[in-house]
Amino acid sequence: MSVAGEKCGPCGKVYLVGAGPGDPDLLTVRAMRLLSTADVVVYDRLISREILSLVPVGVSRIAVGKYSGYHSVCQDETNKMLVALAKSNRCVVRLKGGDPFVFGRGGEEALYMRRSGITFEVVPGITAAVACSAYAGIPLTHRGVSKGFRVVTGHLQENGTLELDWDAMVDPECTLVIYMGLGSLAHVAKRLEEAGLGAETPAAAIQDGTTSKQKAVYGTLASLGALVQQHNLQPPTLIVIGHSAALGAKLAWFDPLLEQEDEYAPSAVWAGC
Ligand code: SAH
Repeated sequence: MSVAGEKCGPCGKVYLVGAGPGDPDLLTVRAMRLLSTADVVVYDRLISREILSLVPVGVSRIAVGKYSGYHSVCQDETNKMLVALAKSNRCVVRLKGGDPFVFGRGGEEALYMRRSGITFEVVPGITAAVACSAYAGIPLTHRGVSKGFRVVTGHLQENGTLELDWDAMVDPECTLVIYMGLGSLAHVAKRLEEAGLGAETPAAAIQDGTTSKQKAVYGTLASLGALVQQHNLQPPTLIVIGHSAALGAKLAWFDPLLEQEDEYAPSAVWAGC
């Protein structure tokens, strides 16, 4: 195991590192160590400024993926870049939001490295389903409420369709978590209802989970679309559907807006006399 601040020397290796959901405190110790020893960090658009600020000055930072208004580097170019950097003996940290193997194309990059003869390591990160639900007070499983959870992507195909097994997703004893589902929320809610999920099933949407910009709205399968519009939720937003989402009303504990309002409140009140 490398020690913080110690360069790994000529390594020619790619570390596929999960950066977690945004709050730098949710980085793993392994991720922190690698950020401090990397020669180059190749990162996605979801990576927060706070996390990027942990990369030492002088280390190259290369942005890839889609940026609105900016040139986007396609997956093939990213793969080739990682191989070229590793072949020039760099210690390459490929930093991805959440976990690299959960809707992060980390598997594809790992396969490309393997085919290209590049040594790699995968460093898991806290995925949005786990982190955002926790920060919104929603236990993904809960005795007597939810026996398990399923994660799917709501990202529409280029032809505007969404190939999901709707019948399999209608399970009132399972929490359904949808990544990239903001744009398709109306479609998803309609298809789930048609497949038999009750319109009154609790549901929540969490934007920028775990960060100072977190916004969470709680409703039902029927009302969530309107709530999302009313509160103007934007990507990245995670959708949680199932009876455990109702626990958010009792367990929500992280509200950055309240923290900001309380900025000048005393940290303790002495009630001695
Ligand atoms: N590999 C990532 C997921 C990448 S897909 C992971 O494991 O978390 C991107 C989607 O993840 C976003 O569209 C959103 O649905 C979700 N997401 C990631 N970070 C999020 C955050 N901080 N708050 C809300 N949703 C988030």
